[in-house]
Amino acid sequence: MSADIIDGKAFAAKVRGQIAGQVARMKADHGITPGLAVILVGEDPASQVYVRNKGTQTLEVGMHSYEHKLPAETRAEDLYALIDRLNADPAVHGILCQFPVPAHLSETEIVARIDPSKDVDGLHVVNAGLLASGQRAMVSCTPLGCLMLLRDRLGSLSGLNAVVVGRSNLVGKPMAQLLLRDSCTVTIAHSRTKDIAAVCRGADILVAAVGRPRMIPGDWIKPGATVIDVGINRVDAPERGPGKTRLVGDVDFDSAKEVAGAITPVPGGVGPMTIACLLANTLTACCRIHGLPEPDGLTA
Ligand code: NAP
Repeated sequence: MSADIIDGKAFAAKVRGQIAGQVARMKADHGITPGLAVILVGEDPASQVYVRNKGTQTLEVGMHSYEHKLPAETRAEDLYALIDRLNADPAVHGILCQFPVPAHLSETEIVARIDPSKDVDGLHVVNAGLLASGQRAMVSCTPLGCLMLLRDRLGSLSGLNAVVVGRSNLVGKPMAQLLLRDSCTVTIAHSRTKDIAAVCRGADILVAAVGRPRMIPGDWIKPGATVIDVGINRVDAPERGPGKTRLVGDVDFDSAKEVAGAITPVPGGVGPMTIACLLANTLTACCRIHGLPEPDGLTA
């Protein structure tokens, strides 16, 4: 048996098309253009690429993009003053600060400063609390993207056994909450889990968010399971030439695809969904702020 490959790139393009349509309607019907502000502190090369991609895709769906690039030595109070201005700016509906930030700044305090209604990364404790208590929240982009892929593939998730490997605030915990909200029976596995292979083998839905290259082999997977691989790991690829590298997931794709019913590849699976969901969250935040109906299929 060979699994269906879940094409996250194509699905993300479809989601962005849907968002662009809704943004155009919002402009035409209400004269409102959603706006996303991204703050980058310092010059981390990977972060610069992420911020550039976010800006490009924001403009492509017809939203306003506001980039704030600050020097690495920016003082916390100056960063907070900028966040306060963005919180109060009616043209800005979503705010995110690209992490990591330089060591003298606290990611927790930065997130706490952002107005929860504009927290499009879904990291604020208010949003984590709303999600955990089953209320309307801003949901972290990567787990939201995984949920969209799962709903698209499986329809109803009700009653399925879901195992999430990883318990980070960014991915594992919100992923588990979302699956619980869709009536899965959820297990969260982590570095202290006993016999993790047996835990994974019970999963109809297996979400891997660990950060360890190819940790999950095919024989940990229940035949026919849907496997969502969040991991992005750079490994040496001597087969591509001296000094070359490639990206792999947390799942050993080659053995897993012989057992799973469907699986996301790395790259091209979950990754493209993350920016699409950032745009979805910005649109959702804009609708909520203006008291307009929320977009269909773009929220949890
Ligand atoms: P993280 O904060 O480092 O969390 C990793 C989790 O994995 C922790 O909960 C840890 O358990 C668990 N873990 C570590 N070793 C383990 C093991 N041997 N067995 C079982 N569990 C283990 O990472 P993250 O931010 O959630 O990201 C996870 C992966 O997803 C990374 O590869 C990251 O690059 C990727 N990612 C991708 C996207 C995307 O857009 N596709 C977005 C975000 C993250 P403990 O809590 O017990 O230490």
